[in-house]
Amino acid sequence: MSNTQPSDKALVPFVSVENMMNLVHHIGIERMLGGLSAYIEEDFRRWELFDKTPRIASHSAEGVIELMPTSDGEVYGFKYVNGHPKNTRAGLQTVTAFGLLANVGNGYPVLLSEMTVLTALRTAATSAMVARHLAPKGADTMAMIGAGAQSEFQSLAMKSICGIRAVRLYDIDPAATAKAARNLSGMGLDVATCGSAEDAMEGAQIITTCTADKQYATILTDNMVGSGVHINAIGGDCPGKTELAPAILNRSDIFVEYPEQTRIEGEIQQMPPDHPVTQMWEVINGTAPGRTSAAQITLFDSVGFAIEDFSALRYIRDHIGGTDYYLDLDLLADPDDPRDLFGMLRRAGPG
Ligand code: NAD
Repeated sequence: MSNTQPSDKALVPFVSVENMMNLVHHIGIERMLGGLSAYIEEDFRRWELFDKTPRIASHSAEGVIELMPTSDGEVYGFKYVNGHPKNTRAGLQTVTAFGLLANVGNGYPVLLSEMTVLTALRTAATSAMVARHLAPKGADTMAMIGAGAQSEFQSLAMKSICGIRAVRLYDIDPAATAKAARNLSGMGLDVATCGSAEDAMEGAQIITTCTADKQYATILTDNMVGSGVHINAIGGDCPGKTELAPAILNRSDIFVEYPEQTRIEGEIQQMPPDHPVTQMWEVINGTAPGRTSAAQITLFDSVGFAIEDFSALRYIRDHIGGTDYYLDLDLLADPDDPRDLFGMLRRAGPG
């Protein structure tokens, strides 16, 4: 450390993409998905404690850039995330993210982390946590419609947390379907590649839609959805971007994260503003019913909420200790004399 800086300078642990991948392998992906799901469920149980706001979105013709803040009164967190469906054509990702945790007591950051890999893990962990509460008993097969970046994570989380044994993949782009099948081979799932969404849904009790297109798409039409299934709708997460025909919403009991955000971004943006929904935190706390009959269609209208990112960052903070999977960043000025910022700058100069 340079002699121009105080010796007890506060450093901020930073988890890079490379180190996040190292950490996933160190912990084991299925164990980590289970751990993330437990952290998310713990935070859903104390839902009322958190500051909550719909995410702050900056929309453009090509996509969206969003900030997702929250705080439990002791720790503050936010995620920066984009959603640009056309990016893959230019060899770029649809979704990239990073995030931060800070101490509410003094405002100092305590963790900075990549969140592209972590978002895929937390989204999958959330989907599986919800499906564990809502999917029909004994569900063992999932249709995975959209085989992009999120798809393998979704499949593995449903395996390790909900016990599904088979996944039926369909993507409009056969190369994506083949990629997901390849990535999932040897991971303990019976993987089928399918030629249509209808084919993928054959015998599936859980239907995950995870496509990316900035439009009111109809990935599922009403006649495709039989009774008793659980729909995990991931891809409709932005104004003007949905996946399900409105008639399906009318036949389903709809479960959401934070209604104020989901009504703007989720499948229910297609419905009147007072269309009934149930908040997942209430199901988890036992104050609202989840699945009440075998014939019911349950629909998780997932958009991704800040508390899930907060839980994921909390999990990372609690699991990097004792590993080499982070770097200490010189992110805070933190002069010895807090009022002598200029003096610190001057001492750093020549002579
Ligand atoms: P991606 O671009 O990597 O993959 C999307 C896939 O959908 C592509 O392979 C594409 O070919 C396929 N697709 C598009 N239209 C289709 C159709 N009609 N039928 C079948 N497949 C189709 O994107 P990703 O990172 O996997 O994300 C998928 C979606 O999930 C995005 O819309 C993203 O914004 C959303 N998302 C939601 C959450 C959440 O918390 N709810 C979190 C992360 C991502």
